Amino acid sequence: EHHVIAMDGPAASGKSSVAGAIADRFGWVFVNTGNMYRAATLAALRAEVDVNDKAAVIAAVDEAEVGVAVVGGRSVVTLKGEAVEDELKDQSINLAVSHVAAVPEVREKLVAMQRDLLQEHSLVMEGRDIGTVVFPETPWKFYIDASEEVRASRRGLQGQADAVSERDRLDSTRKVAPLKAAADAVVIDSTELSLEQVVEEVLAILGA
Ligand code: C5P
Repeated sequence: EHHVIAMDGPAASGKSSVAGAIADRFGWVFVNTGNMYRAATLAALRAEVDVNDKAAVIAAVDEAEVGVAVVGGRSVVTLKGEAVEDELKDQSINLAVSHVAAVPEVREKLVAMQRDLLQEHSLVMEGRDIGTVVFPETPWKFYIDASEEVRASRRGLQGQADAVSERDRLDSTRKVAPLKAAADAVVIDSTELSLEQVVEEVLAILGA
């Protein structure tokens, strides 16, 4: 039987780094669901559709055949079998992804793929709705937060301007699966903590 740790939070809260470290510690697969929404957005941009035209977005995403593989303990997103990870951090995608991620039909498709991964692997999955929508039944849920200033500077350190606060605004106010902590999630404010300290706190809560 496989297990899943859900790790949600706003953009650039450090949750990817924490989730990756926890996955390595347990030998579980780290799944970055943001990259799945980013790949769907790349598909829409390649098809040159208006990201606010829902029907066109749905058609472009269906046509692009978004897939997810597991390579070296990490999720890798593909379009028609082509690995696209290198293109997913482009500013064009930062600006469009929250619009694509607000389309219910796109979410249904990606959530089904996320759930399927548990058939074969134990997972540490990070995103916005993992504890609330994708795996609400898991007893292990974390919500990693940090102040807006710290998140902007963490993203800056990764060499990106990004539009962190605008994405958070759109992600937390959309109708389907808005960004929020599950009622039973452990909330960790990482503003004053190093990556190692957050990882230690998560491990302590898990009793590991
Ligand atoms: O995690 P990352 O910042 O790469 O996610 C990019 C975008 O994908 C988010 O701003 C959000 O719009 C969307 N997303 C989502 N649900 C998830 C993961 C990401 O809506 N589980």
